[in-house]
Amino acid sequence: MSPHLELPSYRQMGLDVRARLYRNRQRPVVLEVERLEKRYGGEGGFLALQDVSFEVRQRELICVIGRSGCGKSTLIRTIAGLEAPTGGRILLDGREVHGPGPERGMVFQTYTLFPWLTVKGNVMFGLRMSGHGRAELEQEALRWIDIVGLSGFADHYPDQLSGGMKQRVAIARALANRPRILLMDEPFGALDAQTRTRMQGYLLQICSKVDVTVVFITHDLDEAVFLADRIVVLDGQAGPLQEVIEVPLSRPRTPEHLLDPAFLATKQRLETLIHSGETHDDEPDVPVRDGETALDRIEF
Ligand code: ADP
Ligand code: MG
Repeated sequence: MSPHLELPSYRQMGLDVRARLYRNRQRPVVLEVERLEKRYGGEGGFLALQDVSFEVRQRELICVIGRSGCGKSTLIRTIAGLEAPTGGRILLDGREVHGPGPERGMVFQTYTLFPWLTVKGNVMFGLRMSGHGRAELEQEALRWIDIVGLSGFADHYPDQLSGGMKQRVAIARALANRPRILLMDEPFGALDAQTRTRMQGYLLQICSKVDVTVVFITHDLDEAVFLADRIVVLDGQAGPLQEVIEVPLSRPRTPEHLLDPAFLATKQRLETLIHSGETHDDEPDVPVRDGETALDRIEF
């Protein structure tokens, strides 16, 4: 058992961390989730989300964590407008969301590229820029392909790309439409550990170059702490939102942050929160090896 680590208080945080949190709080609110409820199957149906409220500020990267089945995808699909809430509401720049819109871009876990289109064709697909000719659209697509580090692959087809590259194309395609907010549902979940780490670095680099706000779903605590400005912890059994945590780490994030006591303390706090709503009755005993917590082995 690792020693108990306290999250640093505001006064204990470095000046750069405090300045970052302060700047975040000054930015305008882009997305408001207000007392959101989602029940599937009508009256008496399954309650997937209940009383979830939080807000996201411009250029923030928010991670949403929680165990499998706790409603993470339901939340992001509702923000995307693919599901209608059964209670509460979602506001984007102060306007209530009804259905999908170009100001919200989506990246899913599974690859959603069109196999018959090249990388450039995929990024150009659905590019919403009125009054521009094909040459300009192509230029714009190439610019985004460059931003995600894939210049040189514009004429490749998806099946000629690795999983990580495909997800970078998906990110370029979503960003090319200049969404106000990028919604990502476990986008790196299908990648191997090494590629996943590299993709996290790419995403942070992209976010530092582009004015975009990100809601990123993951069940990987390391990923959440490494990426996020703040982390929303959703409860297990259709319970209410548990807590929103500010990540007390500076930017830019580097691999050294993984060893920072504040990183470990944040992760420990998240583990406690996720455990607290959990019943172990029907779970098999999971053998735990040295240096590995039980949570690393269980999908939650
Ligand atoms: P997560 O992404 O956190 O794993 P989901 O949002 O996918 O969770 O699902 C939350 C719960 O809602 C699950 O119990 C799931 O079975 C249920 N659910 C999801 N989509 C539907 C649907 N279209 N109809 C009925 N139940 C659903
Ligand atoms: Mg999901």
